[in-house]
Amino acid sequence: MALIDIQNVSKIYQMGDDPKNIFTALDKVSLSIDKGEYVAIIGPSGSGKSTLLQIIGLLDPPTSGSYKMVGYETTELSDNQVTHLRAQKIGFVFQMFNLLSRVSAKDNTLLPMIYQKGRVDHVRVEKVLAQLGMQDHMHHTPSQLSGGQQQRVAIARALVNQPEIILADEPTGNLPQKQAVEIIEELERLHREEDITLLIITHSPELAARADRVVEIVDGKIVKDQIQHTYRNRKQAESPTEVKFKDRFNIRLWMQTTKMALQTMLRNRIRTFLTMLGIIIGVFSVISMLAIGEGAKKNVEHELRRLGSNLFRVNSQWPKIKGSARQKRTITRLNAKDLHALRQLVQSNPYLKDFAATYEGKGTATFEGYSYSTKIIGVSPSYERLRGNYPSHGRFFNEQENENQERVCVIGQTVYKQLFKNQENPIGRSIKIENRNFRVVGLLPSNGTSWGGDVDDVVYVPVETAVHRIFGEDFYTFFYIQAKDELAIKPAIKEVETLLRSRHGMSKGMSDDFAIKNYGEMKDTVDQVSGTMLKLILIVALISLIVGGIGIMNIMLVSVTERTREIGVRKAIGAKSRDILNQFLVESVLIGLVGGLVGVVIAFIAGFVLRSAMGWEIVFKPYGVIVAFLFSLFVGVFFGLYPARKAAKLSPIKALRYE
Ligand code: ADP
Repeated sequence: MALIDIQNVSKIYQMGDDPKNIFTALDKVSLSIDKGEYVAIIGPSGSGKSTLLQIIGLLDPPTSGSYKMVGYETTELSDNQVTHLRAQKIGFVFQMFNLLSRVSAKDNTLLPMIYQKGRVDHVRVEKVLAQLGMQDHMHHTPSQLSGGQQQRVAIARALVNQPEIILADEPTGNLPQKQAVEIIEELERLHREEDITLLIITHSPELAARADRVVEIVDGKIVKDQIQHTYRNRKQAESPTEVKFKDRFNIRLWMQTTKMALQTMLRNRIRTFLTMLGIIIGVFSVISMLAIGEGAKKNVEHELRRLGSNLFRVNSQWPKIKGSARQKRTITRLNAKDLHALRQLVQSNPYLKDFAATYEGKGTATFEGYSYSTKIIGVSPSYERLRGNYPSHGRFFNEQENENQERVCVIGQTVYKQLFKNQENPIGRSIKIENRNFRVVGLLPSNGTSWGGDVDDVVYVPVETAVHRIFGEDFYTFFYIQAKDELAIKPAIKEVETLLRSRHGMSKGMSDDFAIKNYGEMKDTVDQVSGTMLKLILIVALISLIVGGIGIMNIMLVSVTERTREIGVRKAIGAKSRDILNQFLVESVLIGLVGGLVGVVIAFIAGFVLRSAMGWEIVFKPYGVIVAFLFSLFVGVFFGLYPARKAAKLSPIKALRYE
């Protein structure tokens, strides 16, 4: 059986878009080559020599005809199978060397091995290079080698997988005479010593004369096929040589692919960074906004907890006067009678648990020459329980003191610091509030700030003392009312409303002259707002990630175009379409992932800075980070897929010929 058996093969090129404009480069060519032959293909320029070699080399399928290699009808094999066959049987040597320019001679040589076997036999690689006299230049890149040396590397690369055939397309066309002869001698030596079938296209009559057989092509037809020396090595190919068509998972190739992608990214640092920017900004904004949102939520929850549970608050307000029914109405304050009625309601009604009245005013507190203007808040003793306002030192005032309008007070940390300058124990001392002596009975712990105000800047006095003895009024600012539990809040509010409306003599249709603030509702509002915020954030994130993704796609498309020749070379030396796909996909995924990572890191740094410099509450949730990360991965895959497929689908020969 012949190694190569071509019957009636034609190759017709389509020129441009016009289906009639075709060019027949090969016209029903038949050619059979046995194992161990040494064939020179000659003919004028443009006669179809390269076209024939590309078909033999399985880089390009014929338009019609049959091509059997070691018994396999290649025109019936899948793209993947053809690649396997090519990788295992054929080594190419091109006129232009076609080495990957940025990697060393050794790395160029071992590439087919990685594609084919997934592992590198360094001994073999170095042996082959040494055979070709390149042992001292293994770590040089192509630009550091002469033309002849580059071609030796290319031959080593063709040889490394122990192919049966070497196809050389004018291998010496770009070399000076002396180097040309050396290269041909190398190839001939391999032919003799390693039983390699040699097909060489040449323009040189001297080189052609060295081959055992000469095939001449003119205008796409074989016009001469002549044996000019007795065969030295010719053999029948053994019965169908086993070809492995199975793809194996190839960890080495994945590692190599990742390494190459990282190298490409590092080589084009600025470009890579700019491409990543969209992802970086997207991920950064999502994560930091989520963290700020979480922080705000935590703040609010903290506040609400501080306010006390199941609380609502009543205060008087100017009633709204509606439309034509204009009535002159005055504000009805919450007075002592209201308070009394409320007390009775709380005692009898199952929905209500507790309450406190307050009067909020301002005043000056003085102690031994230090004077400080602060909030003077009169509160019922129950305020301590309702608001969780427990003194750290001393005690809160009691019912007795409130009823007797005694001059006792509980002071906040800020007031304590202003008046006592941190020096003395204030409990039992007498301070002046609005020029009246008050005995300090308790000191509150520091509670920080709330909505931007200083919670500790306060003096609490019994509410009756405040109303009657400090401010000389007859009304209260707020009633804080506590329902039995969460479910009781609504009915409790209803009860209080009914009570106050009837007490204030309001008929149906009149609007309330008091306002009720339900703190539970506040939480709902915050939840709603943060829910809406979250949606907005997600939309913004989505848009920026899409923009980032388009950036990746754009650059990857440019990259595919730039590296078209490289793709051709890789395919010619055994890369399957899937390998090329993976190579580009890994790159876009890495851009996405690294972009995501940088975004996360910047968000963390920004969060840290905001927290320490501005005192913002920032809460990073792991799920946000994970989701952002997965998203950037997804963007890398999604937007990298199209360019990667484009690269994978390139025909090796078109890619090789791409200028
Ligand atoms: P040779 O190697 O003998 O110089 P080729 O095999 O490269 O010639 O080309 C044979 C003919 O086919 C040439 O006329 C060339 O212009 C034409 N040809 C080669 N490739 C293509 C192509 N992709 N599309 C159209 N014409 C092509």
